[in-house]
Amino acid sequence: MSERRVLINLRGLLTPDPKQAWAVDRIPAAALALEGGRVTWLGAEADLPAAWADAPRVDGGGAWATPGFVDPHTHLLFGGNRSGEFNRRLHGVSYQQIAAEGGGIRETVRATRAASVAELVDLGEARLRAFRERGVVHLEAKTGYGLELEAESRLTAAYAELRRRGWSLDVTLLPAHDLAPEFGGDAEANARAVAEDWLPELVRRHPGVARFCDVFVETGVYSAEQGRRICQAGQALGLIPRIHADELSWTGGAELAAELRAASADHLMFCSAAGMKAMAAADVTPVLLPGTTLFLGMRDWAPARQMIEAGCRVALATDFNPGSCPCVDPLTILRLGCLQLRLTFEEAFTAMTLHAARSLRHPDLGHLHPGARADVLLWDVEELLELVYWVGEPYRPRFLPA
Ligand SMILES: [Zn+2]
Repeated sequence: MSERRVLINLRGLLTPDPKQAWAVDRIPAAALALEGGRVTWLGAEADLPAAWADAPRVDGGGAWATPGFVDPHTHLLFGGNRSGEFNRRLHGVSYQQIAAEGGGIRETVRATRAASVAELVDLGEARLRAFRERGVVHLEAKTGYGLELEAESRLTAAYAELRRRGWSLDVTLLPAHDLAPEFGGDAEANARAVAEDWLPELVRRHPGVARFCDVFVETGVYSAEQGRRICQAGQALGLIPRIHADELSWTGGAELAAELRAASADHLMFCSAAGMKAMAAADVTPVLLPGTTLFLGMRDWAPARQMIEAGCRVALATDFNPGSCPCVDPLTILRLGCLQLRLTFEEAFTAMTLHAARSLRHPDLGHLHPGARADVLLWDVEELLELVYWVGEPYRPRFLPA
């Protein structure tokens, strides 16, 4: 990894500029100088500095080079899948009916609680490989389908093992993903258990594994006040909050994220104008999840354009999960960003690279300026816009040889 080398013969290179909010560099006939697994220079191949004249060359084969995608919101680990339930919904059975029969998220919680750490690690590796093949070089991964201490602890242990095996991921503790069946709908008692017992114990058992904590603030789940206490308990343990906010109704989740200086507020289909302004002022990244809106058949897409106009640096993510978005494909999200959230290609791309990385506090990811990790994707297309334009084409990037 310490070797010096120069990536040449590129049709072009496109990268966000980490010093700016939405500017991208688009360099035709580009080259990239790499050393120690980092970018040290980028520019037109004709302008390559003399110091690099003797460095070994890597032939880009006429591809477009971009930074790898960063996915800042996934529920990577869960047991089972819910394809049967999905088909029943297509046949007209309501989600409420399925839930009343013990299906829905309860089914995933049962399967996740029954899985061993080794089984979870195997599931995780297969899914991480699927993300990687599609160009995701780093992702955020949440616990949350345990809904009780021991299962949440096994999920955290599985993430620790995946990191030990070299996968690039950030772990978020989300024991407050839903109300646990054991609490009989008592959100207050459940919130107290999360804040006072589960989060401290998870951090004590798995020191240094999780960087973030999260809570589902929603009507019928946790109130903004309960969310505040859960996030503050996480902050006292050194975790940075992210919040599932304003997904199905306005609950003040964006405003709460701003008040707590959370890293992100996620979903935000029902975000208020005041919430957008507050997020911009507090440097909270809105993480939008258009795959979930699509999969749930909802008509209210998150107001991405208004957020950008309010000064927010919007990010996009898959929300990979078994109930509302079983999708590991960044190109699907890129296309929805352009086609439904009305972002330009450059904005959607920046949202899935630079701003996604920013929401995870990684200044060396999501761009290809000097100092960036050399996670370069090579796309065999004439124009990068084709990645969005040819809807449904399963493009796969090439990677630099190790
Ligand atoms: Zn989620």
